[in-house]
Amino acid sequence: MRPTYLEVNLNQLKQNLQNIRARVAPAKVLVVLKANAYGHGVDGVAPFIAPFADYIGVAIVEEGINIRKMGIKTPILVMGGTLPEQIPDFLEFDLTLAASSLSLLESAEQISAAAQKRIKAHLKIDTGMERIGARAQEAQALIERSLSCKHVEVEGIFTHFANSEVMSLRGVKQEFPISAALQLERFEEALSVYEKHSEPHPKLRHTANSGATLLMPESYYDMVRPGVMFYGVYPARDIEKTIEVKTALTWKSQVTYSKIVELGHGVSYGSLWSPETPSRIATIPCGYADGYFRMMTNKAQVIINGKKYPQVGRICMDQFMVNAGADEVKAGDEAILLGKGITPEDLADWVGTNEYEIMTNISARVPRKFVK
Ligand SMILES: *Cc1c(COP(=O)(O)O)cnc(C)c1O
Repeated sequence: MRPTYLEVNLNQLKQNLQNIRARVAPAKVLVVLKANAYGHGVDGVAPFIAPFADYIGVAIVEEGINIRKMGIKTPILVMGGTLPEQIPDFLEFDLTLAASSLSLLESAEQISAAAQKRIKAHLKIDTGMERIGARAQEAQALIERSLSCKHVEVEGIFTHFANSEVMSLRGVKQEFPISAALQLERFEEALSVYEKHSEPHPKLRHTANSGATLLMPESYYDMVRPGVMFYGVYPARDIEKTIEVKTALTWKSQVTYSKIVELGHGVSYGSLWSPETPSRIATIPCGYADGYFRMMTNKAQVIINGKKYPQVGRICMDQFMVNAGADEVKAGDEAILLGKGITPEDLADWVGTNEYEIMTNISARVPRKFVK
């Protein structure tokens, strides 16, 4: 295996799930495995975690097909936008459709009827995210049509929050920026259509992402959809840590080259950095093509032999350099890029992005090693 790899602690993920479950029970838990399991490697995470998940969530149909091809039978909701021509894949691979508009629901009904099959669907209501879903004025028509569908089996109804993790909006009902409390009120309004028709609501009503799982017990309904929390990361820095979760990632590498760089000699492209005294510079075989963002140039830190050192000079596509100062560092020594005291939050700050983007950008070129 390549010396640069991502170690993924599967038991930690399972522990995170158990701790989330303890909070939300009796609500079920949909485990979000989109985007290569937030970069952790869906090939290892999905088979391990599926037996403990009530539902699996993915963003796109291809991710659902990939998980089905692993032989996993757990229900899978494709949460993102879908085009009518992708509906046959839902039938073939037993995936659950997010029915986000009247026209998509009609297509699902027609295509399923023609195939003489049934398709599972969760109605998607847009209560303020303005991404996909039937908005307040369209929700009633969507729900009413779904009541007469013969081939679409409406198992669920859901919405998604835009600002559930924002502490200052907690409990506030306002339209701009849209608060989760107002979104929840609109979701309730949509659900009231069932009462009006004296029909039972679908058995899985769900709204809560990680932020709402932490802050809004009233949003749990029948199931929650924690993504980033399952991976051990809080969705915002100022949220009180009331569910114990830990990151499962350690990004490891090894020094491939070590030398003294003399005073005034520029290191890497653009010669952006040069030492003020002769310094030991170690080269690490990892770069921005691996997801080690170029934006972190001269900001990141790396642990070599248990000690933190600054990254120096432009981060290249496949390699970067570290200033070990006066210390002895040699080829073969272990380097930690993430984990053991370097957090996803640290990397996010060095880049100027969030932890989600840090994790999902660790590229396919970095092998995943799954440990228990
Ligand atoms: C990604 C996603 C989630 C998970 O969000 P987190 O903030 O990671 O908890 C939940 N629901 C939907 C619809 C999503 O797209």
